[in-house]
Amino acid sequence: MTRKEWKIRATSRLSGTEAPALAAALLLCHVLGIDKVALIAHSEEEIPPLAEAELELLLERRLAGEPVAYLLGRREFYGRDFSVNAHTLIPRPETEHLVEAALEFFQGRENIRFLDLGTGSGCIAVTLAAERPSWKGEAVDVSPGALEVARGNAEAHGVSERVVFRQADFTLPLPFEAAGFDLVISNPPYISEEEYAGLDDGVRNFEPRSALVPGPEGLEHPRAVEAAARALLKEGGLLLMEHGHLQGEACRALCPDAYWMDRRTGLDLAGKERFLFAVRRSSVEAPGLSGDAAV
Ligand code: GLN
Repeated sequence: MTRKEWKIRATSRLSGTEAPALAAALLLCHVLGIDKVALIAHSEEEIPPLAEAELELLLERRLAGEPVAYLLGRREFYGRDFSVNAHTLIPRPETEHLVEAALEFFQGRENIRFLDLGTGSGCIAVTLAAERPSWKGEAVDVSPGALEVARGNAEAHGVSERVVFRQADFTLPLPFEAAGFDLVISNPPYISEEEYAGLDDGVRNFEPRSALVPGPEGLEHPRAVEAAARALLKEGGLLLMEHGHLQGEACRALCPDAYWMDRRTGLDLAGKERFLFAVRRSSVEAPGLSGDAAV
């Protein structure tokens, strides 16, 4: 069978799944080890039988609902390829806003020390280090499987000297010196059990539940992130935390006046409240100098 014939058949078998033609093209490129340009330019080439067998297996996995990122073993985040597997959440475009906000807040500042809580594939920590060669950080996750993937990603993007990955549960006290970080950044699990039940099958059946659901309420880990950030940020340090689109107010409320200022909620591309921005106040400063704002 030629590449073109396979693509047409696969697209039709995948109808009813999301973006079937794109998925078919991505699988072809992946298995044949070619890029999209080569796929278009040499669409009449025959597919070797072994490759065809491999394509059939991947197509069946896709038909069973498995996300394309897991079939390819990678997903792009902030312009870089990240390896992913069943131990890691697939990086989402919303999370790129967190990275952008961090880069903007510390614009022109060198030697920033950051901490990524619940690093998963490492997409946040690795991107920060790759974008800012003088920055250094720590990244924790409770899952050894995720840490292995994250370390591989740090290596692949040449930042493994500047990001230290550790296995730790950030809902418990962390082994870091108090007030040692300029930035605490996190995309914690924030989906309530009830919301989880309504998520797509592709997410529920394939992505790690522990990376999505912290407990019945959904705010259990966001609360732990605030506690960790309160203890570990320097004065004037920044907390950036992704949250659910209905959790903006609840997350601002997690940050008491006595410890935090400039609390704001960042929006995602769909205009939904998506991440908390808060600056660690100096402990001697009087509270109430600045309030909350949704931006
Ligand atoms: N930090 C990773 C990401 O943003 C993993 C997040 C998670 O597992 N909740 O994709």
